[in-house]
Amino acid sequence: MKFLKFKKHNEDVPIGKIVCIGRNYLEHAKEMGNEKPDEFPIVFLKPASTVIYSGENVIHPTYSDNLQHEVELVLYIGEEVKNATDEEAENAIHGYTVGLDMTLRDLQFEFKKKGDPWTLAKCFDTATVLSEIVLKKDYLLKGNEKILLKVNDEIKQSSSIDKMIFSQIEIIKFISTRMKLEKGDLIFTGTPEGVSKVVPGDKIYAELENISNLETKIIE
Ligand code: MG
Repeated sequence: MKFLKFKKHNEDVPIGKIVCIGRNYLEHAKEMGNEKPDEFPIVFLKPASTVIYSGENVIHPTYSDNLQHEVELVLYIGEEVKNATDEEAENAIHGYTVGLDMTLRDLQFEFKKKGDPWTLAKCFDTATVLSEIVLKKDYLLKGNEKILLKVNDEIKQSSSIDKMIFSQIEIIKFISTRMKLEKGDLIFTGTPEGVSKVVPGDKIYAELENISNLETKIIE
């Protein structure tokens, strides 16, 4: 079982489900060859067993030739919520951090073509990199924080979370109409443009302004 790590606080919270949003930045949707989704965000899941923390290594699966990074704002759900109102959605977010939704892009494209689920492109061991969670009572997100990712010191992704198509509140409201959210759940809110292939030996640094940063290395 995997537990969350908090900045400045000690609490044993097992990681629940990790709910991920796809295509939540217009420029990233375009670079993937997709139009902006019209009504609802794309939703998929990653299991807690895929999580590693900053300082640990991402193990490159041998069966993929295109492992890519996706840096994302991650929301920490601190209380159960179902069919959330705006206020309930806001209250359900107890903290934030930065995370990587590592993706096997070659497998994902194949699955998309066939209409198959993305599961195996997103759920290999070490596919989810997390940093410590900053609780909302310690820092309230302004909503325009910068989000950044570097590979070997070269900036690859650089955006701001106010470019998200669906807001934090809209995301939680929508997900909670389809499945309840519980304490310990995480929401990956989508990645901005600039995703790129990484190979063994590459070092990734990612940062969400005023919140947290993380480092990881790709290994065989
Ligand atoms: Mg993603």
